[in-house]
Amino acid sequence: MINDFEYLAPKTLKEALALLDKYQDDCKVICGGQSLLVLMRQGLVAPPYMVDIKGLNELSYIKDEKDGLKIGATTTHRTIEKSAVIKKKYPVLAKMETRLASIQTRNWGTIGGNVCHADPAGDPAPVCIALGATFTMTSSKGKRSMPAEDFSLDYFETVLEPGELLTEISLPPVPAKTGTAYTKFNVIESDLATVGVAVTVTLGAGDSCQDIRIALGASAPIPLRTKKAEAVLKGKKITEALLAQAGEAAAAEADPISDIYASDDYRRELIKVLVPRITREAMANARKAK
Ligand SMILES: Cc1cc2nc3c(=O)[nH]c(=O)nc-3n(C[C@H](O)[C@H](O)[C@H](O)COP(=O)(O)OP(=O)(O)OC[C@H]3O[C@@H](n4cnc5c(N)ncnc54)[C@H](O)[C@@H]3O)c2cc1C
Repeated sequence: MINDFEYLAPKTLKEALALLDKYQDDCKVICGGQSLLVLMRQGLVAPPYMVDIKGLNELSYIKDEKDGLKIGATTTHRTIEKSAVIKKKYPVLAKMETRLASIQTRNWGTIGGNVCHADPAGDPAPVCIALGATFTMTSSKGKRSMPAEDFSLDYFETVLEPGELLTEISLPPVPAKTGTAYTKFNVIESDLATVGVAVTVTLGAGDSCQDIRIALGASAPIPLRTKKAEAVLKGKKITEALLAQAGEAAAAEADPISDIYASDDYRRELIKVLVPRITREAMANARKAK
């Protein structure tokens, strides 16, 4: 049963921000509703006011600019999956989307709604972290931006303040000799990750690891950038022994839960296997890149 609420459908971003400012904690933003309605049906969220931002076309865009790619928060998963520029410049993002939920959910759910829902098992956040994304939030008082890895605070909790909307996800240009890869291990096809791993590697002289970003999904209360695993590999010529060490470091830094899909120990074992595997894949992609 969903409690009664007043439905508000602003036509512009300015109008939406004014409503959020007015109702603060009494209102909840809804976009595609693919995650929020589940919580409302369970009675876990019962806002007196709902501000629907799905119709804000000014937040639905993919722009390829000199300083990187900008994705508006209300852009659907399916639009990202199908985007020619994303397939060309950030193929890992389009590929990740093909494994997120069903086509029906991807047609309506949005990337902004996904990361704001802040389920640590979500697919987009680890990929955004590995790609070095920046998230921009807007309120009636102005804008602020931060690295994707700082956006989630805890299970289903983000840095968003009352009155604030996530408005844009921006991805920096991909440096030369850089490759990214992502996979999730899941029990049911198109379901959330049991563990997800995203890695970006930039290769330097002699095939050494000049730079690396490793992010884990479903492995901690937040999508986790594992800097200890990165430190094992950064600046070195990557060997199988170092990859195994990086997997061990990532598993030690993780703080996974036990649930019906997997125990915490099983998730750690998955991390030990997937971090080396996805790093190898990212390196292979980097070798193919210009
Ligand atoms: C059957 C099913 C399978 C799924 N499988 C997967 C999967 O495999 N992988 C995966 O990652 N996800 C999965 N999901 C989750 C879902 O696809 C996403 O979380 C969804 O895309 C959220 O987007 P939305 O626009 O529907 O958000 P909503 O449900 O409308 O909102 C989600 C939350 O974000 C807030 N919010 C939304 N937009 C903004 C904004 N711009 N600024 C501030 N707050 C905002 C809302 O207030 C709410 O708290 C699945 C969902 C379903 C129903």
